[in-house]
Amino acid sequence: MKIPLSRPDITQREIKEVIGVLKTPYLSLGPKQAEFQKKFAAYIGTKYAEVVSSGTAGLHILMKSFGIGKGDEVITTPYSFIASANCILFTQASPVFVDIDVQTFNIDAEKIEEKITSKTKAILVVHVFGMPADMPKINRIAKKHGLIVIEDACEALGAGINGKKVGAFSDAAVFAFYPNKQITTGEGGMVVTNKKSIADNCRSLKNQGRGPQGSFVQLGYNYRLSDINCALGVAQLARINSSLKKRKEVAQVYKEQLKNFQGLKPLCERKGYERSWFVYVIKLSDQFKRNHKFKMLRLLAKKGIECGDYFSAIHLTPFYQKMFGFKRGDFPIAEKIADRTLALPFHNKLKKKEIIEVCRELVKFLNKNG
Ligand SMILES: *Cc1c(COP(=O)(O)O)cnc(C)c1O
Repeated sequence: MKIPLSRPDITQREIKEVIGVLKTPYLSLGPKQAEFQKKFAAYIGTKYAEVVSSGTAGLHILMKSFGIGKGDEVITTPYSFIASANCILFTQASPVFVDIDVQTFNIDAEKIEEKITSKTKAILVVHVFGMPADMPKINRIAKKHGLIVIEDACEALGAGINGKKVGAFSDAAVFAFYPNKQITTGEGGMVVTNKKSIADNCRSLKNQGRGPQGSFVQLGYNYRLSDINCALGVAQLARINSSLKKRKEVAQVYKEQLKNFQGLKPLCERKGYERSWFVYVIKLSDQFKRNHKFKMLRLLAKKGIECGDYFSAIHLTPFYQKMFGFKRGDFPIAEKIADRTLALPFHNKLKKKEIIEVCRELVKFLNKNG
């Protein structure tokens, strides 16, 4: 690929930090884990943070920690990365999808209440593409009906509403550090919460179900993250403001290059809502169909430009169709958006001349097919 979809940004200092850990006896459950957790909680503004081996692992142990299981329903969005719905299935609970807002691509808070039943236990909110979901409204609904709120903030590190960071709006939240995220630890994730009992339980579940005395008190997992990864996380977090600024600048260059073009729209902006740039997604206008999107992905790949399918609707994946009998038309807004959104190459160090090349090929395709 000439222009990859994403690329991690690792400094010499970060490489040194990782090597530094290798020279100590503490490769796991050591001081770097403690430091990463403490600094991360402080950054988000929550009391507790528990590092885990991935965002998906964090979502799984949160489902368990809140006692969500067989017979329970969890309200969530069908327009997301598949892990946010899968984690509900891990504990035999049922995902109940609610269609999305056509502007923000996040769950449509107006449509949540009509899906609440006596079995509803929680709302799992996803801040899609780093745009905060409508947390004030969602929290009001949850309070009225006595529901747990969990944020999947895996795409939204650093995003916020009126200065308060996502991850601090709910009962508990999860972040992820795969290499395409705002900060990376290779693989990794973080659970944050203000509830001591949830933090304690996540610490137990990620470490084989150990209690504070070390004996095995419940069925647990190995979802630990090594101190090698945590050292990278500490160093990446230390320069997060500059990384987020770079990403915002790259997004601005894209926006400027594409502003006069009618065939597509950039991601929305919302007053008081600060997006953290995760991917650069565009939405093709309505005359384009799903087959155009995939034709374009193939054609751009042939030109050495790697784009991504962000997202296909979860309910229409073969797995969910087979398991639940979902069909086209079940969530029309999510389908309409999913058919027309794709991610362009995006990372901290993307150059203006690369952006110009991507946009040129993109516009060429749209002119020919629109
Ligand atoms: C990245 C991501 C996750 C978790 O990813 P892992 O690869 O398990 O770390 C979960 N939900 C969403 C919405 C994501 O984008």
